[in-house]
Amino acid sequence: MAGTVEPSFRGARRRLIETLQDKGIKDLAVLNAIDAVQRHKFVPASTRHRAYEDAALPIGSGQTISQPFVHARSIELLELTGRERVLEIGTGSGYQTALLAQLAAQVFSVERVALLIERARTLLAEMDVRNVSMLLGDGTLGWRDYGPYDGIIVGAGAPHVPTAYSEQLAEGGRLVLPVGGREEQVLCVFTKRGTQLERRDITPVRFVPLIGAGGWPPG
Ligand code: SAH
Repeated sequence: MAGTVEPSFRGARRRLIETLQDKGIKDLAVLNAIDAVQRHKFVPASTRHRAYEDAALPIGSGQTISQPFVHARSIELLELTGRERVLEIGTGSGYQTALLAQLAAQVFSVERVALLIERARTLLAEMDVRNVSMLLGDGTLGWRDYGPYDGIIVGAGAPHVPTAYSEQLAEGGRLVLPVGGREEQVLCVFTKRGTQLERRDITPVRFVPLIGAGGWPPG
């Protein structure tokens, strides 16, 4: 319609940031990234009015964009300073990818659903995000070519830690991964110390399953 201005949702985004702070998110760089990235662009038009609720939303292909609090908490656990190379598994909508692009030097993102990765690729290009590389494939195998990574962040739940992740993590690097059952998991952060991964349990979560050779079977 002539004269219609696309809403920028600034106020709604501000309220979301206050909600996240109330829920305990402290990392100002993470909060600034959430302020900078337009989440409403990453959700289907039919749910756009709900884009700044602290809720997960469907994005098609049976997948969901995670709740903003879960994204914020997971990224906070990576303790990024801006110099890191980060591997993301499960690009999904590309929203978390866009947040990571603001907070790390280089982002490598792997997704197994072609439709989702193509949509995310288009959106990030439109937003002129240039420090992200994407791969269509089984993210339980990581992305060997560009490792080791200072951080690995996984947006789907695994039955156990895929061996590729410990292999592709740099010394002192962090892996954020939901571990547990197909429906419910515990969000864990692992720190690489020599050949060991030091585990810390953060909070119960519900992610879609990580499907692949090092994860769950499909279906
Ligand atoms: N952070 C994303 C989460 C999307 S849901 C967002 O907020 O949009 C999790 C994603 O992981 C889904 O898109 C799903 O297709 C993907 N996924 C599941 N198993 C995978 C695997 N083995 N490799 C890559 N992506 C995987």
